[in-house]
Amino acid sequence: MINIPKGTKDVLPEQSYKWRFIEDSAREVARTFNLSEIRTPTFEYTELFKRGVGETTDVVNKEMYTFEDKGGRSITLKPEGTAGAARMFVENGLASRPMPLKTYYITPAFRYERPQAGRLREFHQFGIEVFGSQSYETDAEVIFAASAFLDKLGVKTKLEINSIGCPICRAEYNKALKNYFEPKLESMCETCRTRYVQNPLRMLDCKEEGCRKINADAPKITDYLCEECREHFTGVKSLLSAQGLEYTVNPRIVRGLDYYSKTVFEFVSDEIGAQGTVCGGGRYDGLVEQLGGAHVPAIGFAAGIERLMLLMENTGAKFPEEQKPRIYIAGMDKETRAEAFKIAVGLRLKGISAEIDHMNRSVKAQFKYADKLGAEYVAVIGENELKSGVINIKNMKNGEQQAVKTDELYAYLK
Ligand SMILES: [Zn+2]
Ligand SMILES: [Zn+2]
Repeated sequence: MINIPKGTKDVLPEQSYKWRFIEDSAREVARTFNLSEIRTPTFEYTELFKRGVGETTDVVNKEMYTFEDKGGRSITLKPEGTAGAARMFVENGLASRPMPLKTYYITPAFRYERPQAGRLREFHQFGIEVFGSQSYETDAEVIFAASAFLDKLGVKTKLEINSIGCPICRAEYNKALKNYFEPKLESMCETCRTRYVQNPLRMLDCKEEGCRKINADAPKITDYLCEECREHFTGVKSLLSAQGLEYTVNPRIVRGLDYYSKTVFEFVSDEIGAQGTVCGGGRYDGLVEQLGGAHVPAIGFAAGIERLMLLMENTGAKFPEEQKPRIYIAGMDKETRAEAFKIAVGLRLKGISAEIDHMNRSVKAQFKYADKLGAEYVAVIGENELKSGVINIKNMKNGEQQAVKTDELYAYLK
């Protein structure tokens, strides 16, 4: 037997309705927020992620599925959705359209990580990317879309927001961070010492106990924001508050990816372990330009579907019912089985889900099977039914029987 690769997962027939529920909820939120779906390839040139995600990030340094194709090109399976969306935006000249361009995607993504609950090597994301607006209203709208999505799933999360400023104010802040960390570097972890050189902002992300203690007293980015960034952040907060969306400002949120600017946010839950982010996003005003496009501001988020699923299961959130046949039609011999087949197909073509026996079961065994399938009604076709054109259908919930003409069955079930 050949096993499934480590860090991947099958979705079994009886589980897929949960997936569909999450995906349908995403599409419903996208519809009401007027977002259009985009689909980008599963693999891109490796260079895209190096430039678009950032060479100093763990994603690019350690976690990418990169290989050379038969033509000698370096190819990478997408580790996230934003870089591909931005590449598509630039390549297709979408900047010439009326702005903002509001998009969403549901995509698999790939990261070579240590697999754990809700964290797989092949995982799935629902993401939103809105291009072309630098207004703080757009930030608030994207946060509201995420919140609406999580509400639909019935999961309880906390919203944490921050501003990581623009390149101008962040340069000042990075200086302040370096000054603060320099005398303490000796007692910090190796990752932090590398980040001190490459991107000190990301030292705040460190999960090591010792580093976290040191981080607690580090200067806060919100004290270093320039006037424009400060006003933007105030605008976002006021729109959230005006709608009663609760949040806390968490100066520790810096997001792992280099292209973020100004607003960053996370919806977190402590029901799925220490790193409880179920949805994270932010503004990335520099990305499109970095990929060779014009200066086009953008903002988005991504939510991991596996993590959401885990959160829903851990907290007993309700999924809708699994799909079940409306009616099961049993036959007992060649002729009556053929009639059952005919009736079932007729109902299906009119949009009613119907099931029949495929395994030559006895009538008794068919009743058992229909019950197992959760069929709402069961009908048995025998000699009499065949002659009279009237069948008895049994309501499996309350046991009531009802005689119905075969050609009125559709009207009855509809
Ligand atoms: Zn700024
Ligand atoms: Zn550290």
